[in-house]
Amino acid sequence: MDISIVVPLYNEEESLPELTAWIERVMAEHGYSYEIIFVNDGSTDGSQGIVRSLAQNNPHIRSISFARNYGKSPALNEGFRKSQGDVVITMDADLQDSPDEIPELYRMIMAEGYDLVSGWKKKRYDPLSKTIPTKLFNATARRVSGIKNLHDFNCGLKAYRKDVVKHIEVYGDMHRYIPYLAKNAGYKKIGEKVVQHQARKYGHTKFGLDRFVNGYLDLATLWFQSSFGVKPMHLFGLLGSLMFIIGFLAVLAVLVLKVVSICSEDYNFYVTNSVYFYLSLACMVMGLQFFLTGFIGELITRNSPERNNYLIAEEF
Ligand code: UDP
Ligand code: MG
Repeated sequence: MDISIVVPLYNEEESLPELTAWIERVMAEHGYSYEIIFVNDGSTDGSQGIVRSLAQNNPHIRSISFARNYGKSPALNEGFRKSQGDVVITMDADLQDSPDEIPELYRMIMAEGYDLVSGWKKKRYDPLSKTIPTKLFNATARRVSGIKNLHDFNCGLKAYRKDVVKHIEVYGDMHRYIPYLAKNAGYKKIGEKVVQHQARKYGHTKFGLDRFVNGYLDLATLWFQSSFGVKPMHLFGLLGSLMFIIGFLAVLAVLVLKVVSICSEDYNFYVTNSVYFYLSLACMVMGLQFFLTGFIGELITRNSPERNNYLIAEEF
């Protein structure tokens, strides 16, 4: 099969018939063999009924329907597991992404050898409250992930080589960082294509402002996982040692000052009045905590089934 199109949807009943007809038209024009996987993320409107009736007229339509709303990432993850096409395309259900982009995305994966091609909504039709924070968000994501050539990490329209989606796990709200997940899994050829973007025709956006706070927290988590995921002691041991050294120097300072004060007649030093005393206490306690965190992290890593997952490029 050439193409799997994975569409996560949450209360998008108005858009589905139009989107399906459009995808069918593009697929027929190019003669691709394909499947459309609608992942219904616990919609409370008539979306699933519409998917069912669309599937009756088109044998290429498959569906997964969650019992409740889990989020876009879990929806994509399940769609990825079910997909069979050589190239897997994800697109939003709200008609903001255009199926006309699919042939070029497919070509970039198959002919140019990209592992992942991410859409870039260069001209966006979203409110300013969304576009400005998004710019900041993308700049941070570029820096942290080291994927310097991407302008739009969170574009719903993306294409993947099948191998990629079978080797990544999208969970929580990590759909914003799939290129980073792919990079961490060992896929290096990540490209970008400028895509057409439309204003939302029906319904309303499913993400509020909390996505920016959560987005940055998730980025911090991913950075930590990719840098220290299997060697947490390298970070916590370093921090713990630093704290211990500072604490030790502070203790030395307390000792020296006390000895000086005992030997001299007119200099009085009281340990509990000294800033060094409190510094030594705080640093020793924090140092110990960092070390213990490191040890516990190592124990958890040791038990993780993922600890020895490597992507092998070649083997004789
Ligand atoms: N979506 C989903 N589960 C959710 C929220 C959103 O499957 O909990 C789907 C939604 O139906 C749409 C896509 O994810 O197909 C993108 O959502 P939306 O258009 O609301 O995001 P925006 O374009 O505003 O960033
Ligand atoms: Mg949208």
